[in-house]
Amino acid sequence: MAKLEIHQFPCLNDNYGVLIHDADKNVTATIDTPEVAPIEAALAEKGWTLTHILNTHHHGDHTGGNAELKAKTGCTVTGPKPEAAKIPGLDTAVGEGDVYDFGGHVAQIIETPGHTLGHIAYYFADDGVAFVGDTLFALGCGRVFEGTMEQMWSGLQKLMTLPAETTVYCGHEYTLANAAFAITIEPDNQELVERVKQIKALRANGKPTVPTTLDVELRTNPFLRPASPGVQKQLGMEGADPAAVFAEVRRRKDNF
Ligand code: ZN
Ligand code: FE
Repeated sequence: MAKLEIHQFPCLNDNYGVLIHDADKNVTATIDTPEVAPIEAALAEKGWTLTHILNTHHHGDHTGGNAELKAKTGCTVTGPKPEAAKIPGLDTAVGEGDVYDFGGHVAQIIETPGHTLGHIAYYFADDGVAFVGDTLFALGCGRVFEGTMEQMWSGLQKLMTLPAETTVYCGHEYTLANAAFAITIEPDNQELVERVKQIKALRANGKPTVPTTLDVELRTNPFLRPASPGVQKQLGMEGADPAAVFAEVRRRKDNF
C-alpha cells in the first residue's frame, strides 16, 4: 500500500477541494465536490483519475459537483447515512463507527451533527489525517444550522480525542475572520497571538492556512477551549459547564 497522497486546492469563493490518491491501487477520491472545473483541473494536473467521492454533508458547496462528476467518471459516491436522501448519486451510506476502505486506507466514520444533522468526518488513523468538512475550522467551527449547540459540542469533543498530531483538513478558508474573533475570546493566549500574526502573513501572501493540526487547534481555537480558565474568565463564566461556554462562544461568533 502506498502512502496516501493529498492535494488541496481552492474552489468557489472560500471552499477547499481535496483529492486523495493511492498510487498502488490507482484510486483517487475527492473530499466533497464544491465545484467541478477546479476538481477536474486538479485531477489533470496530478494525472489522477477520479474513482470515489466522499461527502461530509449535504450542503450544495460540498455536493454540488456529485452528479456531473459521477456521470463523467462513473465514480462511486459515499456520504452520511442520516442525510442519504440529500446526497446526489449516493451509492454507499456510512455512519458512526463504520469503517470505509479507500484503496486499503481505512477511514473511521465519526458523526459530528450540528452544522447539519448528519454531518460526518472521515478519520484515516494510519495516515494521521482527518477530513472534517464544516465541523471544525482553523480557529473556528461550523455554524450550527440544523442541530443543537449540545450536538455540535459533542461532535467537536469526539474530534478532540483524536491524536494531537492529526492533520486536519476542513472545508473552507475562513481563518482570517476566525482569527479576528478568536483573539476577542482569549486575548492573553500568547500562542494564539502569535498564530494570528502568522495567519495574517500567510493570507497577505495568498497562501492557505489549511490544513491545520489538532494540536494547534486544541491550544488556540476558542471553540475547543471552553474549559480553559482564560476563556471562562473573559466571558464572565468561571466554573461554568464547558458545553454552556461553547454555546456562548458560538453565539458571540454568530453576532461578531
Ligand atoms: Zn456546510
Ligand atoms: Fe461549506
